[in-house]
Amino acid sequence: MSDKVMIFDTTLRDGEQSPGATMNIDEKIRMARQLETLGVDIIEAGFPIASKGDFESVRAISEAVSDIQVAGLCRSVTKDIDRCWEAVKDSPEPRIHTFLATSPIHMEYKLGKTPDQVVEMTEAAVSHAAKYTSNVEFSAEDASRSEWDFLVRVFNTAIKAGARTLNVPDTVGYTQPHEFHDLIRYLMEKLDMKDDTVISVHCHNDLGLAVANSLAAIRAGARQVECTVSGIGERAGNAALEEVVMGLNTRKDLYDIETGIVTEQLYPSCRRLSQIIGQPIPPYKAIVGTNAFAHESGVHQDGVIKNRQTYEIMTPASIGRHGTDIVIGKHSGSHAIKRKVEELGYTLDDEQVGAMFDAVKELADKKEQIYDEDVEASCSKRFTVAATSSASRT
Ligand SMILES: [Zn+2]
Repeated sequence: MSDKVMIFDTTLRDGEQSPGATMNIDEKIRMARQLETLGVDIIEAGFPIASKGDFESVRAISEAVSDIQVAGLCRSVTKDIDRCWEAVKDSPEPRIHTFLATSPIHMEYKLGKTPDQVVEMTEAAVSHAAKYTSNVEFSAEDASRSEWDFLVRVFNTAIKAGARTLNVPDTVGYTQPHEFHDLIRYLMEKLDMKDDTVISVHCHNDLGLAVANSLAAIRAGARQVECTVSGIGERAGNAALEEVVMGLNTRKDLYDIETGIVTEQLYPSCRRLSQIIGQPIPPYKAIVGTNAFAHESGVHQDGVIKNRQTYEIMTPASIGRHGTDIVIGKHSGSHAIKRKVEELGYTLDDEQVGAMFDAVKELADKKEQIYDEDVEASCSKRFTVAATSSASRT
């Protein structure tokens, strides 16, 4: 039987740290419900000590979902951990995720602590969290720039104190796939792992390697991946959930790994996020961009017509794209246009649909074939996705 990798989604915490991606409480709940439909194993709902709003939204999400783990993030400080527990405790399966930096540069300049003090703080924080729940995750912040033997010491302390999940973040997006693979292997060999100990990874995309590093870590034995929808997150973002999952699915021959993700919900999830934060999915984005399944060159088009597999390694339907269901053209009625714009994430009133109807007719006079991206470009010129959801914005 294949092994399973847990998908830990941090769109609502790390993702929200992406510039311009702030979500209000209703939007977070809508996104959390979509993540549950998508089949993620754990939602990181926020950083409860950060603000009253963060606390309230973590608590609201905990109550809104029905069959999923909900994690809250907290520093390795007693009052943070208490506040975190308060926020997640009513969720179907609460998790406390506490973190502490372990790299020389972070320990010296950020924390002002010695390595011995960091080990002591790890012990104190994890044992305090473990008094509330057995579902404790410990992250060694900036792990990829930490000394490997020191990481072993810190993680073994965390396991002993009651941490079940050990997260190895590449906080600054610095590591390389082969190096990260070797680090995970090293930890798997050196740690005093229990039967239920899980190694997790959390990769950032500063060098464009977040997904590659996550897959390399899975290959080495990591069984939880932290990622975000469309890869949004701090700076250059996190590992994109849809890319990690489709990497594993498309190359099952290589990984032999399952996830609980309903892949047909990948595209709708990216769309939902895009609609909520008011930022379009880049057209060239892997898996979910509008061009991801578009074939431009004549040679490619010819091949695809004869046999799709000549140039397609996965089908649009497998990720929930049904863009060809409604073909928009000169003869399309306003109902078809309304449905098409809804599929693209816009909610328009009758007058707005009328304006789009006229725009499409005008376009159809100039252009033989109208693609989704034409409709989207025309729509985004007139209406912003965010503005159409203004009713739920405060
Ligand atoms: Zn992060």
